[in-house]
Amino acid sequence: MRSSDLICRLRSRRTASPPVNLGVSRKQDEGIMFIGHYGLAYAAKKKFRKIPLWVLFLSVQLVDLVAFILILSGVEKAAYREDINPFFRTNIDLPYSHSLVGALLLGAAVYWILKLAKRKSWAPIAALCVLSHWVIDWLVHTPDLSILFGCCKVGLGLWSYPYLSFALEIILVLAGWLILGYRNPVSFLLLLLLVAGFTGMIFVAEPEAVKNNASLRTLVVLVPNMIFIALAYFSEKLQGKKASE
Ligand SMILES: [Zn+2]
Repeated sequence: MRSSDLICRLRSRRTASPPVNLGVSRKQDEGIMFIGHYGLAYAAKKKFRKIPLWVLFLSVQLVDLVAFILILSGVEKAAYREDINPFFRTNIDLPYSHSLVGALLLGAAVYWILKLAKRKSWAPIAALCVLSHWVIDWLVHTPDLSILFGCCKVGLGLWSYPYLSFALEIILVLAGWLILGYRNPVSFLLLLLLVAGFTGMIFVAEPEAVKNNASLRTLVVLVPNMIFIALAYFSEKLQGKKASE
C-alpha cells in the first residue's frame, strides 16, 4: 500500500469508525513490543556504569513483563481488534500493571529488593527506570492508562500518528545504543533484533495461528523481551572482555 493511501485511511478511521468495544467473545491479545524503553536503559547505563545493563533493561520493561504474566493468568486483558493503524490493534485493559500507582508500587518493590541485596546505589536508579515505563507509555497511549487500578484514564495519544511513533521508537533505541557505545557482536545482534523485531511487528501481518491464540500471542512478545534482557547481559560481558584485552 502506498503511504498516501495509508494516511488517508488513517484519517478516515479517526473520523468515521468508532473504536471496537472490548467484548468477552474477543480473543485476548497482547500488543506490540515497544523498544523505546530500552533506549532509555542504554542511556542510563552510560551514566550509571556500576549498574548492569541487564538490570536496567529488566527495570525499564518490568511493567510490560508483569502485564504479560497478568494477561497469561487472565487478570488483565488485551483484546485483538482490526485497525489500519498497527498501534491500535489491541484493546487493552491493564488496570494493575499499567496504572500509575501500580508502576509506583513496582518501582518501590525493585527499590527495596535491591536495598536488601546490598545494591544501595542501584536502587533509586532502577526504581526510576521502572517508573519511566509508565511515563513513556503515557505519552504514546490513547487514554487507556489508569492512575489508580482502572480509575481515571489518561494518555496523550502519540500513537494516532503511527509514522511519528514508529520513528520515535527507532530513534530512541539507536540514540541510546550510540550513546552507550558498546561495539561487539552481541551488542550489534541485540540492536538488530530490537529494530528488526519491532519493524516486523509493525509492518508484517501476523499469521492467523498466532492471531487466534491468546497465550501464544502473549508469549510471542514475552519471549523476545526475555531474550533482549539476556543479550544485554552478554553484550556487557563481552564489552568488559574487550576492554581488558
Ligand atoms: Zn507498557
